[in-house]
Amino acid sequence: MERTSSTQLAVVGGGPGGYIAAFRAADAGLSVTLIGQEPAPGGVCLHVGCIPSKALLHVARVLAEVREAQAWGITFPSPRVDLERLRAWKRSVVERLTGGLRLLAEQRGVRYLRGRARLWDARTLVVETEAGEAERVSFQQAIVATGSRPAELPGVSFASPRIMDSTRALELEDVPRTLLVIGGGYIGLELGTVYARLGARVTLVEMMPGILPGVDRDLASVLARRLEALFEAVLVNTTVAEMREEAEGVRVRLEGVGGQAVPPPTERVFDKVLVCVGRKPNAHDLGLERTRVERDARGFVRVDAQRRTAEPTIFAIGDVVGEPMLAHKAMHEARVAVEAILGRPTAFAPRAIPAVVFTDPEIAWCGLTETQARQENRPIKVARFPWAASGRAVTVDRPEGVTKLILDPETERVLGVGIVGVGAGELIAEGVLAIEMGARASDLERVIHPHPTLSETFMEAAEAFLGVSPHLYRRRTTER
Ligand SMILES: Cc1cc2nc3c(=O)[nH]c(=O)nc-3n(C[C@H](O)[C@H](O)[C@H](O)COP(=O)(O)OP(=O)(O)OC[C@H]3O[C@@H](n4cnc5c(N)ncnc54)[C@H](O)[C@@H]3O)c2cc1C
Repeated sequence: MERTSSTQLAVVGGGPGGYIAAFRAADAGLSVTLIGQEPAPGGVCLHVGCIPSKALLHVARVLAEVREAQAWGITFPSPRVDLERLRAWKRSVVERLTGGLRLLAEQRGVRYLRGRARLWDARTLVVETEAGEAERVSFQQAIVATGSRPAELPGVSFASPRIMDSTRALELEDVPRTLLVIGGGYIGLELGTVYARLGARVTLVEMMPGILPGVDRDLASVLARRLEALFEAVLVNTTVAEMREEAEGVRVRLEGVGGQAVPPPTERVFDKVLVCVGRKPNAHDLGLERTRVERDARGFVRVDAQRRTAEPTIFAIGDVVGEPMLAHKAMHEARVAVEAILGRPTAFAPRAIPAVVFTDPEIAWCGLTETQARQENRPIKVARFPWAASGRAVTVDRPEGVTKLILDPETERVLGVGIVGVGAGELIAEGVLAIEMGARASDLERVIHPHPTLSETFMEAAEAFLGVSPHLYRRRTTER
């Protein structure tokens, strides 16, 4: 017989959007049922996304440093990778964090119901549990936080053990001798970096004219130069026209885009292929058609500024409502949706959502980008500080970075920040704060930054903009 239960708030999906919403609502006194498919909350981010990928990228960085240390007079024997132990370590990181979330849910009295949920109507969900049983959950309000899944490449089947999506790649079944990464977005670049550092010969193809389409070229080009050295090949303006599995690997025929030539050979065989061509919202097979919830042309759930769908009892947050598909955006939307449910005045209106590519070097940006400003014909001023003039960057032997500020030419307010360099992902937080607080270049210039740190590059960029940089010499244009 079907079980029944009732809750004030039902949250579908245990990712960073879902679990933050559930915890905040429970802390505010609501009864909450959090429904997820994994043994513990965490969603894509903790189980097969942000966390395992960053654990492996940390290992990749250590392997790189071992090699780079030769230039500083320290030579290690060639590292030996024990894949079994590496996988176990990555698993332990994920289990520690997701186990922590399970405990935090219990402590708050959040009921974690493992299963797949579908909406029956605007006040009821039916959850199919692992054991094949069904539970009918009635709710006053629901938050859909079902996230996203890897997009497929037409005609390419993930059934073959040689073809991987990001989830499979993170399992690290083996280190192929040769790997083709299709897609030069952040997931392809991060996972390509991991496999290359573990010893695979990585070829990357991207159909656009450069890696990380949409990211400012002066930042992306710094990373591109390093990846060209790390990878066997980085082929832009290139697509995979045909892919065939053969006994010795996957035979791929490459084709140039828009008449561009592909460096020969156009046919290559790879041990494995990693497809990273974007992500699609999990808005299908959810029973949304039984409600008034609407979706846009790309399949994302439509929401208002409070993250309410067209069905008044149902909210939606995270990847399922659209770009940028990032964990911290989902978490912020969770706050807004719960505040709206609690009847508090709120809106999702960030001035800056940071984005980080955790490659080596990292790229991070927030707010207005130079590319966007040019597309919109918006007047801006740009201040750049090259890390070659940063004491800290030189001490860590990574002077290739750049910190740049995008400024309003009239008010001199910081509208955007872009950074490429080691640790850019940590540094960008200062940029987000500057934009959200309406800081001007003069504010950044006057704030005392600790020395020697890479954070000084913010102050230095502001000094460069104001023409008072001690570390960048500018020839005087007028005689004194
Ligand atoms: C390899 C990789 C690396 C990434 N790295 C980063 C990073 O460094 N930083 C960053 O900000 N973002 C990163 N992301 C993106 C990030 O993981 C997502 O933006 C984030 O997880 C979205 O959170 P969410 O709450 O919307 O949903 P998700 O984390 O996608 O969780 C949704 C959950 O809902 C469950 N679900 C779906 N349908 C149902 C249903 N019908 N019933 C019950 N449960 C359901 C899913 O199983 C899933 O567990 C990465 C993604 C990948 C794939």
